[in-house]
Amino acid sequence: MTFQALGLIDPLQRTLESLGYRQPTPVQKQAIPAVLAGRDLMAAAQTGTGKTAAFALPQLQKLLLEGVTAPKAVRTLVLVPTRELAEQVYQSFRSYGGNLPLKCAVAYGGVPIEGQISKLRKGLDVLVATPGRLLDLHDQAAISFELLTTLVLDEADRMLDLGFERDLDILLAAMPKQRQTLLFSATFSDAIRQLASGMLRDPVTIQVSASNTTTKTVRQWLIPTDKRSKPELLLHLLKKHRWGQVLIFVKTRKGVEALIKTLQEHGYTADAIHGDKTQPMRLRALDRFKQREVQLLVATDVAARGLDIEALPQVVNFDLPTVAEDYVHRIGRTGRAGMEGEAVSLVCADEVELLKDIEGLIGQVLHRVEEAGFEADHRVPETGSKGAALAAAKKAAAEAPRKKRPFTGPPGGRAAAKQAQTTGTATAKPSSAGKSGTGNGAGSKAGAGRAASAGTIIVTGGRGAKSLARSAGKAQAQGNPRRAKGGAR
Ligand code: AMP
Repeated sequence: MTFQALGLIDPLQRTLESLGYRQPTPVQKQAIPAVLAGRDLMAAAQTGTGKTAAFALPQLQKLLLEGVTAPKAVRTLVLVPTRELAEQVYQSFRSYGGNLPLKCAVAYGGVPIEGQISKLRKGLDVLVATPGRLLDLHDQAAISFELLTTLVLDEADRMLDLGFERDLDILLAAMPKQRQTLLFSATFSDAIRQLASGMLRDPVTIQVSASNTTTKTVRQWLIPTDKRSKPELLLHLLKKHRWGQVLIFVKTRKGVEALIKTLQEHGYTADAIHGDKTQPMRLRALDRFKQREVQLLVATDVAARGLDIEALPQVVNFDLPTVAEDYVHRIGRTGRAGMEGEAVSLVCADEVELLKDIEGLIGQVLHRVEEAGFEADHRVPETGSKGAALAAAKKAAAEAPRKKRPFTGPPGGRAAAKQAQTTGTATAKPSSAGKSGTGNGAGSKAGAGRAASAGTIIVTGGRGAKSLARSAGKAQAQGNPRRAKGGAR
């Protein structure tokens, strides 16, 4: 199948040819005609499947052929959870639509708002934004949704995990009801299905691979070891396997900095991406890694999504993620666009519960490989049977009919939930039903959701802190420390 057969116009086809895209990926095959036909979309597609082009290409075509913008107006709005993803999606729009007379811009927090306000003044065809900054722009009357025809929610599951649900509710209430809505999510949790059913009309559902499964081209394995042995083990693996570019995930910012120091002391070039780095610093680190100026990029989960690094062969989970879904996103950095990749996790006894969660989610027991000289003194218990049992239980739960759950989330945070009961829901097959515990609809495993339902939240500034405050309903501003209680990442 060709892009032409999907109904894309010549200028876009030429651009794709120059980018070396020979044929559409599965998600593009299904999404492009549906979007061109004006349908709403609910798509389960991970990073690496070509999902950005799946919504960007038909959007650009529609914008070109239908209507014009006006001062402060935005015609297509793409909401994404992180600054990194915002930058990446924006760059995709630029590369696909670079030769079209359309105006695109990006807006996220952590950088001055004035430049973004000034870009909006004359109006935009496409704005890619994170919810918190978009709300700030809206509060300042710098943006109008009057001409908004399409809303794209990219990585919607991550948006809920990061506590953006309340921001979304406020923003959605300000948008025209008559619009096209495209929802992309790597995983379909209960909360996502509720969100979708409140905002999508008779959506076309797309599932390019079973949700909550990891990319097939990634070889995954783990090495059981002790916590204190991990730095030495990593150095040993780098040497033994002669790895080139490696993306390494570490749980905490402090952990990232400590590991960078060790790696540099041993002569490796390494850079960091985490929440304490400013946006320009993060982009520079990513750029240096992409340009191969540094060999190792060490990141917290804030960077797990939205990094598009071509042909990255190796991901190392130095620590396992605390949210199992993040494992899927982390390893989605490799094995992209059909290339082979490898993801290895260094797992200590403390992490066995996290491991079970991950194995339950992906429905697979990770292959264990002992590394001589680094065997764990504190044995990492076998997960095989329990992990498999958990997976089976989840599968059964997913296949069972959905039950309504009471909403116990932040005040006013469930307009969508109410509508969900009347508009019916999307038809995608559930895959992790029964997983979330509290039913607060805000990615219940995430700290944000927990903090919100617990009552007052103390906002201490930093990434996403305002959104957390909104999500809690009540907020008290405080000084500097970066993390908001409940864990803004
Ligand atoms: P995404 O899933 O949108 O993050 O895209 C993953 C990668 O696949 C990006 O580097 C895209 O440039 C690339 N890509 C997207 N569509 C195609 C295609 N049809 N052919 C080849 N590469 C593609």
